[in-house]
Amino acid sequence: MNIAEFLARTARVSPERPALFHGETCLCDYREFASRAARIAGALTRRHGLAEGERVVVFMGNCAEYLEVLYGIWWAGLVAVPVNAKLHPREVAWIVEDAQAAAIFLCPERAPGMLALLPDLPGVRQTFTAGSSAYTGLLASEPLPLCHRAPDDLAWLFYTSGTTGRPKGVMLTHRNLANMVACYFMDVDEVSPDDAIVYAAPMSHGAGLYNFMHVIKGARHVVPRSGGFDEAELVELAACVGRLSMFAAPTMVKRLVEHVAASGADVSGFKTIVYGGGPMYVADIRRALAVMGDRFVQIYGQGESPMTITALSRAQLAGRDHPRWAERIASVGAAQSLVEVRVAGPDGEPLPAGEVGEVLVRGDVVMRGYWRNEAATTRALREGWLWTGDMGSLDEDGFLSLRDRSKDVIISGGSNIYPREVEEVLLRHPGVREVSVVGKPDPEWGEVVVAFLVAGADVDERALDALCLAEIARFKRPKEYRFVDALPKNNYGKVLKTELRRQLQA
Ligand code: ATP
Repeated sequence: MNIAEFLARTARVSPERPALFHGETCLCDYREFASRAARIAGALTRRHGLAEGERVVVFMGNCAEYLEVLYGIWWAGLVAVPVNAKLHPREVAWIVEDAQAAAIFLCPERAPGMLALLPDLPGVRQTFTAGSSAYTGLLASEPLPLCHRAPDDLAWLFYTSGTTGRPKGVMLTHRNLANMVACYFMDVDEVSPDDAIVYAAPMSHGAGLYNFMHVIKGARHVVPRSGGFDEAELVELAACVGRLSMFAAPTMVKRLVEHVAASGADVSGFKTIVYGGGPMYVADIRRALAVMGDRFVQIYGQGESPMTITALSRAQLAGRDHPRWAERIASVGAAQSLVEVRVAGPDGEPLPAGEVGEVLVRGDVVMRGYWRNEAATTRALREGWLWTGDMGSLDEDGFLSLRDRSKDVIISGGSNIYPREVEEVLLRHPGVREVSVVGKPDPEWGEVVVAFLVAGADVDERALDALCLAEIARFKRPKEYRFVDALPKNNYGKVLKTELRRQLQA
């Protein structure tokens, strides 16, 4: 079992189907895509001496070469370590060392910073910058026959984004990724050969994981000319390419929806927008459905169970007639088909419906463990269950409502306060654009609630307080409001609550 087999098969069965696109321009068909991957694999192993199982870091922005590099690595039986292109080269150097990587793929923009650090990275034997002679040299090699892999061999070493500490290398195997693919087809969306997928979010993360289904079906892969998320470009691409799907973080969905609302653009070229990776507030998903129609699916996952814990399907999001629709669209959906999801108490015992506990997940999609980090693996994987660190509750129908990461829960005067609940209320004020609620140490209460807000000048504390008093218990309302120009976010657009807490302590 090698996930690169997906590409090999499509290239055999449908060699002439258009495969890779830069904007609306087709770069190659599936025959050429597979041939390039096989030649990269040949060069990496035969010419540059990389051995099966060695790690190869991919430090590239979204680009047309990204997929051929990934498949070249897998084709050769190597392990891909895609890292976020927005990281500082020093952060990448830390990952390169931790992963004990033997080679690095770079894009021209990232090359100078990274190459300057190479003297400190003696384990790295080769670097290849897309477009350079070293890179074109790879493509001139003899193709390698597809390398066989065992299901539990590593395919993708996925460094978490580090919102809760130092990034950890999540070990994802060929089996894990194949199960993620199967769940996508069962619970997220069907894919047809006429479809296209656009990589608007970083390919080093979830968006890159969402390539396999379109490879299997011989569908089109589109890398935007901007290399990332540009709402106007996406709308144009959808109109021109048609049947376009994408994975988007909630902040991207929000921007796309506002652009469509303001421009009145035709969105019929969008097929499915899968969102997840962070909380989507209810007001935002309602607006997205109203503006862009029933083309959304939500997934909840984490690096350790990639894109696959629960899903809220298109039909569930569209099912306004269902008596529990309002609750359902505030949830993250029900367990995906090949995983079991449990909400557990401190000893792992399942809790009854409605009770809040930690979310546990089990199944063949769950990671093998953390790379060279026994202690973290033992904490996260217990008796076959992955402890996600997320708090939530299941309803009687199995729909999961997420509260917060266990580390973000505020304990004030002995009561648990889930920041998300307070954030949802504050976001109802039309002048509030963004909000993040955290706990501040307090000698009397243990912690008190503080809200950081990005808001218009007309928003005052009294109005916010009145809103909270009308909606939630008194003890949950913020004791302090801090108006800021922007919330600190990591490279994936997630709010860094650790940074907000640090600011409060300073
Ligand atoms: P680290 O593990 O290093 O702290 P991270 O939190 O960013 O990094 P990721 O794997 O990138 O880790 O993100 C997974 C987390 O994102 C989940 O555990 C959950 O807290 C949140 N998340 C993912 N999908 C959703 C969703 N649909 N709704 C709400 N939160 C989500």
